[in-house]
Amino acid sequence: MNAQAQQDALRSIPPGLPTYDDVLTAAWRIKDVAHRTPVLTSRTADARTGGKLFFKAENFQRSGAFKFRGAYNAIARLSPEAKTRGVVAFSSGNHAQAIAYAGQLQGVPTVIIMPQDAPAMKVAATKGYGGEVVMYDRYTEDREAIGRRLSAERGLTLIPPYDHEDVIAGQGTAAKELFEEVGSLDMLLVCTGGGGLLAGSALAAKALSPECRIYGVEPEAGNDAQQSFRSGSIVRIPVPATIADGAQTTYIGTKTFPIMRALVDDILTVSDAQLVDTMRFFVERMKIVVEPTGCLSAAAALNGIVPCEGKRVGIIISGGNVDPKALAGFLAG
Ligand SMILES: *Cc1c(COP(=O)(O)O)cnc(C)c1O
Repeated sequence: MNAQAQQDALRSIPPGLPTYDDVLTAAWRIKDVAHRTPVLTSRTADARTGGKLFFKAENFQRSGAFKFRGAYNAIARLSPEAKTRGVVAFSSGNHAQAIAYAGQLQGVPTVIIMPQDAPAMKVAATKGYGGEVVMYDRYTEDREAIGRRLSAERGLTLIPPYDHEDVIAGQGTAAKELFEEVGSLDMLLVCTGGGGLLAGSALAAKALSPECRIYGVEPEAGNDAQQSFRSGSIVRIPVPATIADGAQTTYIGTKTFPIMRALVDDILTVSDAQLVDTMRFFVERMKIVVEPTGCLSAAAALNGIVPCEGKRVGIIISGGNVDPKALAGFLAG
């Protein structure tokens, strides 16, 4: 994108949505609490792709995923009264743990609505961070309705996992750190569910490396972001069957979508088998544990879904929360 095209793209984002300035203030808010995660390189990955790959390792972030950034930023932005009343989130995954942990660090009570059949490890982690867990039956009850009722009864502020200005701005801080550390890139690959990480990363990329091409990567079985991106309106799909549990979203956000449409170049997909291969690559070659969803972006590069030959490529590894038994199962299979 040339400078003029870049300006036009940024101008096409409707007012009221986050900008790179919001990413900067989010970075300032989280600077003493979030880890500045390392950027890893691998000669094997470079040899396999013919490119120069830079892995931003958010599997080492607090609570094990980038979600801590957005959660902490969103809670920090609340009024003192809202902080006293507390926040509510519904999620069985990384957003729940991030909200509970970020709330604990800021002295803000948190209520997390989780399905009764959520993995015991995740329930225990959420409680361990001081979150009050409210269980619901995912087949008969509507978690959004429970969230609305709790927020009405107890004055709790609902913080959604991706479709929220302060969450998007917070998620953008990981890519900001990546560009600050390695300079400009030819491509940036981002794991994509509801698009919070992708939208925030795109804001940082356009500001810090304007020529960089930006790709979201989602599971093949749940390509709603790709369908939405290519058709120009948000497409809803049934819950996809994929091991990438952090990207089982059924539609992207009304706030993330316009930013994606303006700044992202395309959405790519990878198969579950490619995610397993990538998990194995990370363990064998780079000695790191990455959850299936966290492998999306790397899988696109390592499998040539997007050609990396001669390119400098940023890859956001989004998280590392995978149950050890499940990991062993994936690696054995
Ligand atoms: C939530 C999550 C994603 C997807 O993020 P969105 O902002 O919903 O696109 C990707 N990877 C991991 C590890 C996650 O927890």
